[in-house]
Amino acid sequence: MNPVPSTTADVPAAREARVGEAQRRRARDLLAQRDAVLVAHYYVDAELQDLALETGGCVADSLEMARFGRDHPARTLVVAGVRFMGETAKILSPDKRVLMPDLEATCSLDLGCRAEDFARFCDRHPDRAVVVYANTSAAVKARADWMVTSSCALPIVADLKARGRRILWAPDRHLGRYIQEQTGADMLLWDATCVVHDEFKGIELELMRHEHPRAKVLVHPESPSSVIAQADRVGSTTALLRAVTEMEADEFIVATDAGLFHRMQQMAPGKTLMEAPTSGAGATCKSCAHCPWMAMNSLSKLEQCLQGRGPVIELDDDVIRRARTCIDRMLDFVATHPGSITPAPGGFVPNLGAA
Ligand code: SF4
Repeated sequence: MNPVPSTTADVPAAREARVGEAQRRRARDLLAQRDAVLVAHYYVDAELQDLALETGGCVADSLEMARFGRDHPARTLVVAGVRFMGETAKILSPDKRVLMPDLEATCSLDLGCRAEDFARFCDRHPDRAVVVYANTSAAVKARADWMVTSSCALPIVADLKARGRRILWAPDRHLGRYIQEQTGADMLLWDATCVVHDEFKGIELELMRHEHPRAKVLVHPESPSSVIAQADRVGSTTALLRAVTEMEADEFIVATDAGLFHRMQQMAPGKTLMEAPTSGAGATCKSCAHCPWMAMNSLSKLEQCLQGRGPVIELDDDVIRRARTCIDRMLDFVATHPGSITPAPGGFVPNLGAA
């Protein structure tokens, strides 16, 4: 006889699976009807990542999302990520319609660097090259000389230093300090942090490493320096993904958004992934290591946005023109220095089999 509890528990689970499959089918149909492609970040929900790959879109970091959207022939880009990613897609593809499941999905780095304050900072240091991280508004990018992502920030700043330039950097101070230490560049740093990566704890990571002596430590450079100092590999989401597939170890402690674990586990199914600690002993509150704004993207909102053809990213033409200059500089640099960034394992291909 079947035990009653498992039978009753299976009913809502089965119903949920049927609803989820129906939603995925409708989203797939709407993407095709609207000549739209889904461009998703590694940190959004697993079902959106899978849908992007199944329908010929991509799951990537912000640099590859921007390049993929620009080069894809679809007339509509649906960006599952946070607002600055939608804005970057619009800047690179101004003639395309750029939709987002939720326009309120933003980023603590973007919020922590308001365009007016940043303009005053730049005005005070007119002799410096202005380098901004991708996680900024279009208006902040419009004031910058260079945009960089965590994939290419190091070689670009090293190149500027070699050409005798001093740098004004915004907004992530941990990433800025890491680049400063690695390159020796003269950098003035803006003071903002990522709410996810800033929560990783150095002392607790040390204890965890002692409990798992064979585990390799992978760290995103938006983390505090006490965490970066213990890393076996520091890098962008793409570099960390590649590290899991390439490094010989079977166990990894990973200091980045937990959303990346889905793709990591797909790419390296036999390996054990552990979240780096986000709280001290006895803490009553523990960060979930998942971006609250990335979590605002869902299958239901994707379906609504495709049905209603919005919300849409709209940007002023002048902002697009000025912001595009600093993004194009980065893309030209990456294209002419092909060894300067870590390619994703298997490249950005539209299905898991080929990945
Ligand atoms: S994970 Fe951090 S850097 Fe990325 S979008 Fe969220 S707040 Fe911004």
